[in-house]
Amino acid sequence: MTLRAPSTMPGPRPTVRELLSSGEPTFSFEFFPPKTADGERLLWQAIRELESLQPSFVSITYGAGGSTRDTTVQLTERIATETTLLPLGHLTAVNHSVAELRHVIGHYSDAGVRNMLALRGDPPGDPQAEWVAHPRGLHYAEDLVRLLKESGDYCVGVAAFPEKHPRSPDFASDVHHFVRKCRAGADYAITQFFFDWQDWARLRDATAATGCDAPIIPGIMPVTNVSQIERMAQLSGAAFPADLAERLRAVADDPRAVRAIGVEVATELCAKLLAEGAPGLHFITLNRSTATREVWQRLRVGAPV
Ligand code: FAD
Repeated sequence: MTLRAPSTMPGPRPTVRELLSSGEPTFSFEFFPPKTADGERLLWQAIRELESLQPSFVSITYGAGGSTRDTTVQLTERIATETTLLPLGHLTAVNHSVAELRHVIGHYSDAGVRNMLALRGDPPGDPQAEWVAHPRGLHYAEDLVRLLKESGDYCVGVAAFPEKHPRSPDFASDVHHFVRKCRAGADYAITQFFFDWQDWARLRDATAATGCDAPIIPGIMPVTNVSQIERMAQLSGAAFPADLAERLRAVADDPRAVRAIGVEVATELCAKLLAEGAPGLHFITLNRSTATREVWQRLRVGAPV
């Protein structure tokens, strides 16, 4: 399997859309903005370790509020200027007026970031609370896609949910709203993490049935810590498979054994998704490099999975 690396391509830095149309699966990493100096050190260690794998692009999530939002933009800018990596800028509509959103878009643009991920975001404090838009802001990610497309020549991605968004009443209405984001101008999507490849295939097929052909990159989260992933699965609405939970609980006191199972399961999922024609793989790294590197190495050498 060949994995596309931006630094090997001549000319200006590519857009995610161009990378996706190359025919080779993209391979990307997601980080989150750290809150402490120690967290920042660990993040940069992970970035540097993963840089050598020449991923297609990397991204830093946009904080729910407060100073981590500035950190997101600063880190994304630093990735653009101090590394060989292609950064993707996350942006949410949470607690922002349209004027503020334009301001943040301007910051990303000044740093040369042209690839963006347009998200609505969740209510800060309680992500499961009722969503309330800023009085001079935007209601849905669809509106942010339009704002970005009006603001310049951005390549814009959106979120997708193989198991439907946790607040959506049903799968069909979720697909309907997802397709609206694509019709508003989104170039591609990245999904919430999930564990069953058929959930991704069902979303892909339901989307294609509407005539929408936006590439849907699966989001992958290798399990490195049992309690953390159960908590995140609860928040994201992703079903944590009972058999996997049982296997992990049996070795919960042995972090190496937990990671080995996480790597094995994620590698199997990735291999199946690539065989099914997934346009790329987007890894949620939780600011650590080891598990993602191990999955990547196994996929790359075609090790038996
Ligand atoms: P939307 O597409 O606006 O959808 C939100 C809900 O409203 C859905 O239920 C949808 O079906 C519904 N809906 C959409 N349009 C309409 C409409 N016109 N009328 C009625 N209902 C509608 N969060 C962060 O805070 N920072 C991040 O950096 C971040 N990165 C993410 C990256 C990925 C790959 C993913 C999958 C999620 C990420 N999130 C992030 C989480 C995301 O912000 C939440 O899942 C949020 O609840 C939904 O965002 P959205 O962009 O999908 O919203």
